Amino acid sequence: MTQHVAVLGATGSIGDSTLALLAAHPERFSVYALSGHSRLDKLFALCQQFQPKCVVVPVQQVDTFAERIKAANLSIEVLGGEQGLVAVANDTQVDTVVAAIVGAAGLASTLAAAQAGKRILLANKEALVMAGSLMMQAVRDNDAILLPLDSEHNAIYQCLPAAVQLDNQQIHQKTHGVQRLWLTASGGPFLHKTYEDMQKASLAEAVKHPNWSMGQKISIDSATMMNKGLELIEACHLFDLPESSIHVVIHPQSIVHSLVEYCDGSFLAQMGSPDMKTPIAHALSYPERINSGVASLSLYDLADLQFLAPDLTKFSCLKLAREAMKTGVLATITLNAANEVAVQAFIEAKVKLTDIALINERSLDKIASNSGFGNSSINSLEDIMAMDAIARQFAANEVLLCQQ
Ligand code: NDP
Ligand code: MG
Repeated sequence: MTQHVAVLGATGSIGDSTLALLAAHPERFSVYALSGHSRLDKLFALCQQFQPKCVVVPVQQVDTFAERIKAANLSIEVLGGEQGLVAVANDTQVDTVVAAIVGAAGLASTLAAAQAGKRILLANKEALVMAGSLMMQAVRDNDAILLPLDSEHNAIYQCLPAAVQLDNQQIHQKTHGVQRLWLTASGGPFLHKTYEDMQKASLAEAVKHPNWSMGQKISIDSATMMNKGLELIEACHLFDLPESSIHVVIHPQSIVHSLVEYCDGSFLAQMGSPDMKTPIAHALSYPERINSGVASLSLYDLADLQFLAPDLTKFSCLKLAREAMKTGVLATITLNAANEVAVQAFIEAKVKLTDIALINERSLDKIASNSGFGNSSINSLEDIMAMDAIARQFAANEVLLCQQ
């Protein structure tokens, strides 16, 4: 039976890889919906190529985009903004939602997909960092299926027992014999550079990831290792484990995508070329396998795979994420929001790369005294977005202080 797929965030890097796979397997998949935000010419070209049933653009662009669609004799419904994204996630015709919008902007539609019991292919890690408990509860209550696209989490998923995979990856450490999870990290472009080099880094240097080709925000997150911090929190929610059971190891070659350590001493790892088409193909076709078109690994050339401990002084964002996970949901929402604000300020050349960690840390310091919220008062999407807005204000003030 053909899977009807909605690709939210179709114009981005994950969108590109997903659509390449959908195009390569028309017998299995049909593209039901697409969304974009600023790259609307690209979105229009994708509409011509895939002819989805509907497309989502920002609210203010709906009329102009609809005129373009009509002028091209295409029959595609044009929806607007977050409401449009949520409507697609709820659409009864949609089987699979690829959550590939970057940042908090992807939360409402990802949560809606969970509430509608969809098969969700999750790239938007920020949704779990902000709303992990709410999301996982919605997945379980509505028999949704959540398959991680993030390469590390997808690797771990592949290394878990089938019983855990089928139970929305809830690990019971004793029953399943899981000792700990190991998230691998490339270390990003500054792994072998000094803190002073990082202070002087330009945007071009920060987004130049050694192994992966990705969108701008996640590339900057990789340079500060905030990405691994977000992934640590993502893993806690996805696999229902405390942060103490999840370790991070630097693996500069990005060949081993992550590992599960079992109590009998076995380490199960998933390996492959660093290409997102592999985890996306896995999740699209699970439990079957499809050809992803990714080049086979040349094992004879892999003589030098390294595994190193992370430097938590240079990459303090990783430490902040672990602390935030221990503190609770207020802290993880704040960390995510502050980081989005700080990354944007770095993109706009208002702050240095190293200021991102400072802004994140100072924003976290403020929540206990200022927000008026407690962890137990975060029970809904509205509560989360209210806290997100407060944290963005903290971070915006910190950006101003860094500029002085
Ligand atoms: P990109 O920046 O390449 O793409 C982001 C997508 O989100 C684009 O389609 C963009 O639209 C859309 N978007 C941006 N802002 C908004 C908004 N306010 N409202 C609605 N849509 C919006 O990012 P990536 O594809 O690299 O990453 C997407 C997600 O996947 C992130 O959460 C990232 O952490 C995660 N991820 C990515 C990996 C990768 O290899 N790229 C690996 C693992 C996880 P437009 O381009 O039209 O503005
Ligand atoms: Mg990752």
